Amino acid sequence: MKSSKEVTCPACFEQFTLWGSPLESSAGEFDYDCEVCCHPMVIRVDEEGDFMALPLDEAY
Ligand SMILES: [Zn+2]
Repeated sequence: MKSSKEVTCPACFEQFTLWGSPLESSAGEFDYDCEVCCHPMVIRVDEEGDFMALPLDEAY
């Protein structure tokens, strides 16, 4: 099972890699700050384990 996931920042459109415990949670959402521009975003995980990064104002 992979322990990292590539996501694209919705603010700066740079790709970065998520690591660790958030990836092991079940489907849902969690907050994350972009590792490139530090913009806060919401990572949404669907039932198939696909990740999508959303700007905060679109996620709520
Ligand atoms: Zn960014």
